[in-house]
Amino acid sequence: MSQVPAITLNNGVLMPQLGFGVWQVPDGEATAAVASALDAGYRSIDTAAVYANEKGTGRALAASGLPREELFVTTKLWNSDQGHDSALRAFDRSLAKLRLEYVDLYLIHWPQPRRDAYTDTWRALERIAADGRARAIGVSNFQPAHLRRLTAGAGVVPAVNQIELHPQLAQAGLRSLHAELGIATEAWSPLGQGKGLLDNPVIGKIAARHGRTAAQVVLRWHLQLGNVVIPKSVTPSRIRENIDVFGFELPEEDLAELAALDDGTRLGPDPDAVG
Ligand code: NAD
Repeated sequence: MSQVPAITLNNGVLMPQLGFGVWQVPDGEATAAVASALDAGYRSIDTAAVYANEKGTGRALAASGLPREELFVTTKLWNSDQGHDSALRAFDRSLAKLRLEYVDLYLIHWPQPRRDAYTDTWRALERIAADGRARAIGVSNFQPAHLRRLTAGAGVVPAVNQIELHPQLAQAGLRSLHAELGIATEAWSPLGQGKGLLDNPVIGKIAARHGRTAAQVVLRWHLQLGNVVIPKSVTPSRIRENIDVFGFELPEEDLAELAALDDGTRLGPDPDAVG
């Protein structure tokens, strides 16, 4: 079984560098998909209230029989629940659906800068963490200005910023700000949602040289950059393929070829425009 390395978050909590994402997996299918992932050796699962599959995910976690401390469960606060008190209530709902006493990581899903509630929301997450109901708290889709504002206060620095990141959107600016502030970079849509990216001939050539698949090369690129990755698949063979990425290394020349693919392509919305 693959040994997934852990990264140390800024509060000392260990987070597996590779996990399993369940966006767009219907609740009824989430149980089987998460069970496949746990079976393949994944221990970190990334869901969100808005994915509407926290129940199915929780069922798989409970049925696995794995000790709770071996799992790393992330969920996220949806936009309509931003605000101090509504965030506390939303967190309770997520925890109940997941059938957990605590989550490992709780994230604000989008900053919604026009709504301007993320600093109040953050106070609620700080309270959840202080109560021991989230081992770590963080954000998602936060831009530099939002991170600067959040960290200018005296409170807890987010442990993680989960952002769109793949070879066509390498996010050098945010990654260096994260390093400066002590925030771990977590990549969403790490495979570029599997569409054009995995057919890219440059990636195909590198994969052929290593006797690996395009998805494995892209995941290896993330890991060598230091990103946390959460690839998604509902196909058991691909679930296994995506965690089988610890037995090879990309040399500098390959990393340089992959770096040249960064053309700023965004698959998701501009975080400043979601609100
Ligand atoms: P992804 O980049 O992980 O791509 C998933 C798709 O790639 C699959 O649906 C499948 O079509 C294909 N694929 C997967 N493995 C493959 C393989 N080995 N070979 C060929 N094709 C393969 O995309 P994603 O689901 O958008 O992102 C991963 C996770 O990130 C999500 O499930 C979710 O947990 C998280 N996410 C978070 C946000 C956010 O706003 N915070 C947004 C999007 C996704």
